Amino acid sequence: MLDGLPSRELLERTKGFLDEEEGAALYRLALRAAPLGPCLEIGSYCGKSALYLGEACRKTDNILFSIDHHRGSEEQQPGEEYFDPDLFDYERGCVDTFRFFRRTLARAGLEENVIPIVSASAAAARKWSTPLGLVFIDGGHSFEAAKTDFLSWEGHLVPEGYLLIHDIFKDPDEGGQAPYEVYKLALGTGRYRELPMVKTLGILRKRI
Ligand code: MG
Repeated sequence: MLDGLPSRELLERTKGFLDEEEGAALYRLALRAAPLGPCLEIGSYCGKSALYLGEACRKTDNILFSIDHHRGSEEQQPGEEYFDPDLFDYERGCVDTFRFFRRTLARAGLEENVIPIVSASAAAARKWSTPLGLVFIDGGHSFEAAKTDFLSWEGHLVPEGYLLIHDIFKDPDEGGQAPYEVYKLALGTGRYRELPMVKTLGILRKRI
């Protein structure tokens, strides 16, 4: 067991789809990335992965930028497979996960180390100029969304930086293929080398 992981109580109170072992890997990789630059994740949702990445940032005096439009991705809309009525704002008629995300950060006391960016990822990338040590892609799971996230952010990753992609299923019977397609796209550029996966977490390191 790693030292400094988020508390079980906090994790249990936070909605999300992140496996514990994958979370521990995010924590470990964010510790390693700290000397390279800030971390950035796409797909904050309710903050489960931000708990792991943010704790590592707190420990290393680093920053996690966490991007999400907080309107839920395609598969989280009413009638879709991952729709969660708790997250639906009935007054405005849309999904709103930002309230939950803020609550998670406040509970964890991570507001000095996790900076929310409420925006579509491509819009946030347009004027971005800070080199990043780690980029974690876990936003929309359509090929277009995942590819846009990759193309918008990978150029900001420093040499030796970590590119992490969630929900990689090499077997199509186990899950959607878009994240894996983007993983292969990244490898196909020749700019990354593969490190061993942790469950469905793909781990790439940018070549020098
Ligand atoms: Mg995911």
